[in-house]
Amino acid sequence: MTGEGLETTDQLIGTVLAVQANFYRVQLDVEIGEMREMREMREQNPPDPPHPLPAPILLCTRRSRLKKIGQQVMVGDRVVVEEPDWAGGRGAIASVLPRQSQLDRPAIANVNQILLVFAVADPPLEPYQLSRFLVKAESTDIDVILCLNKCDLISKEQQAEIYHQLGNWGYQPIFISVGQGINIDEPADKLKDQITVIAGPSGVGKSSLINGLIPNANLRVGEISGKLARGRHTTRHVELFELPTGGLLADTPGFNQPDLDSPPEELASYFPEARQRLAVGSCRFSDCLHRDEPECIVRGEWERYQHYLDFLTEAIDRQTHQNQQADPESTLKVKSKGKGQTQYEPKLESKKYRRSSRRTQLQELQHLYQESEES
Ligand code: GDP
Ligand code: ZN
Repeated sequence: MTGEGLETTDQLIGTVLAVQANFYRVQLDVEIGEMREMREMREQNPPDPPHPLPAPILLCTRRSRLKKIGQQVMVGDRVVVEEPDWAGGRGAIASVLPRQSQLDRPAIANVNQILLVFAVADPPLEPYQLSRFLVKAESTDIDVILCLNKCDLISKEQQAEIYHQLGNWGYQPIFISVGQGINIDEPADKLKDQITVIAGPSGVGKSSLINGLIPNANLRVGEISGKLARGRHTTRHVELFELPTGGLLADTPGFNQPDLDSPPEELASYFPEARQRLAVGSCRFSDCLHRDEPECIVRGEWERYQHYLDFLTEAIDRQTHQNQQADPESTLKVKSKGKGQTQYEPKLESKKYRRSSRRTQLQELQHLYQESEES
């Protein structure tokens, strides 16, 4: 170890911000407080000429032992770094700490929350689209924060109406206006010291919000500086960006229609309204899909029940299609009702439905990104 004053630390722990070829950019936990002070000082007193802050970031290789045991290192991973060469800015990743969560595409570990951004107008807030995004986010099992931007375009009364409506869905949206600088502190506070992935359709103001949250993006290290600030990704690789208040943020490109690919029997659990109903009672059949089964506690007069039914049809169609590809005989198990509708046969479901693992659930969000990359 060449770093003086750092020998006292037992282990050097850091977070992988980016993977570049065979190198991992690791932000170390040490010196972070000190860095923040320096940054604050700089904000008041920008250096002339401007030059980057000395960052506790090391470009690391992965120990061959990790390769041998097949241990992947992902963006977001908490890692133990050995043999830091402070002068050269290099190190080696010796081990990976257990992951709290894992999204597969984009490959990010330890994401704590999804910041879902929609606009209340321009583009108009479409309940069905919002519902899709919410269900998709819920399926990852990661906390969702819902921000409704462009609140400057509607009245307080309209805001109250939307707030009430989404309250019935089980959400408390935060109204903001990035353009007018209204209420930005609230989402900013929630991002503090968390790893957050931002998502939402295009045109709602995600880039504007990110620029507001990371005003000094150009102060960040190296070749990637400013990429996030421009809000346009030209490459596919994922990257975590440091928020000035602490915490890390990953951007995703805009896309308008996330693909829902949850197993049909899990769909209800992604609706808070359905969860609430299932918390106080139960359906007659434990494998109830809450459509027309007798004594169903979920079916009823809640606003998004129709969304649920639509998404369910989609989920069943998807699964039927997948099963047909995997097993040509399974066509016998599905009755066509005509008009492209499919009659699903509940009797067969226990055989056909695979319980999806938590990992699969976490993979769900990947499609958010997949589609945007394709578009
Ligand atoms: P993105 O596609 O989600 O990244 O959205 P952008 O950040 O590119 O913003 C889309 C458009 O919305 C831009 O023309 C912004 O100037 C505008 N915009 C962003 N925030 C607000 C806001 O709070 N109010 C209004 N009226 N317009 C906004
Ligand atoms: Zn039911």
